[in-house]
Amino acid sequence: MADLVQRYLDALVAEFACVTDGALADYIPELTEVDPTGFGLTLSAADGFLYESGDARTEFTIQSISKPFTYALALDLSGPEAVDAKIGVEPSGDAFNEISVDEHTKAPKNAMINAGAIAAVSLVPGASPDERFSKIQEFYSACAGRPLDLDEDVYRSEKETGDRNRAIAYMLTSFGVLADPDDVLDVYFRQCSLKVTSVDLARMAATLARAGTNPQTGRRVTSAKVVQRTLSVMVTCGMYNGAGDWVSAVGMPAKSGVGGGITAVLPGQLGIGLYSPLLDGRGNSVRGVLACRAMSEQLGLHFLNVSRESRATIRAVYSAVDGVRVYEMHGDLMFAGAEKVARTVDRDSDGFSVAILDVSRVDTINDPARLLLAGMSTTLREAGKLGLLVDPDAAVIRPGRGFDDVVFSTLDDAVEAARLWTDGPTPPRRRRSASSSD
Ligand code: GLN
Repeated sequence: MADLVQRYLDALVAEFACVTDGALADYIPELTEVDPTGFGLTLSAADGFLYESGDARTEFTIQSISKPFTYALALDLSGPEAVDAKIGVEPSGDAFNEISVDEHTKAPKNAMINAGAIAAVSLVPGASPDERFSKIQEFYSACAGRPLDLDEDVYRSEKETGDRNRAIAYMLTSFGVLADPDDVLDVYFRQCSLKVTSVDLARMAATLARAGTNPQTGRRVTSAKVVQRTLSVMVTCGMYNGAGDWVSAVGMPAKSGVGGGITAVLPGQLGIGLYSPLLDGRGNSVRGVLACRAMSEQLGLHFLNVSRESRATIRAVYSAVDGVRVYEMHGDLMFAGAEKVARTVDRDSDGFSVAILDVSRVDTINDPARLLLAGMSTTLREAGKLGLLVDPDAAVIRPGRGFDDVVFSTLDDAVEAARLWTDGPTPPRRRRSASSSD
């Protein structure tokens, strides 16, 4: 049940652990010293429930995944007009560290490349670099739901070797985008050097998915408007010059960093955090990209995949007779909704011997949700329990798929079969009405 999601993620990590393509970032010594086999994946549901797999709690530096969060903070604290006057929202198609500005406006093209990210730091108000940095650190920590610390060695190296970023900051100063390049750079190097885990990235993503409220702490960290703008820029510019490919194949606003992290957001539904430090030529984690592609395809996570918001909910839960619990669902059932149902049934399972899932009021269901619900009857059976479906329109399980003995046309039929089984237990007989074709 909820286990199915865990097993799916574990299988995904096992599958892509075999991929050893790519290279560690090598522009500073600290990044070449990390374990190249490290691989962690965390998925946060919209309510904050976590699935962790592999090296989910390994720390690494956030690097460019800092960019959307500082951009959000700048929008929040300085307002969109001030931010838009200094940073564009157009994909650049350039490498992340391109020394470039928009040829007409002379402003950085977007906040996801270094030029725009450095400008965003300057738009976080603060009387000193320390003050600016502590606002940034506090904001990321609020998104992650725990205090994030600095990797001092990475920070020192970033600063020592940061000539290209210095070139960018001085160019921006010459165009009047910022006034204090050295101070701003110092904060930029520090923000890139904050340590996170894939769990933190999943929580940060889930905070964006929940329009600015951290689902774990319940704290509102920014506004829905700021999140909308931030996600828009992540969609179009988050994966550097791989952005077009990313949107087509994965379809989740996301951001990568050369530390090997990726954070991906499915608005309203979930957040994903990934870690694997072997990078492709664009600076994106090779396994991270593969895992995101696979999850998007297999779990139907592309944000343009559904025309309607996934708002399936459990309409009612009650005991029909002793040991028999009924879960009534309604609305549109997509992966995230089915996952919630699976987890609720899982959590309750000590209290029943038969669970009846009534999907007769579900409007729409997609294949990943179908698979998850179908898998529930198998896992319940493995646990010595019984899972029955009330599915008069064969929405979840098509006739002839081998689940006939657990699918019923009416709730009454299912309850009767459940009662016989709890009295018996003998396998329930099939109760499809003549109208359901098979
Ligand atoms: N610290 C790195 C830089 O500014 C971050 C780059 C990245 O993660 N893509 O060059």
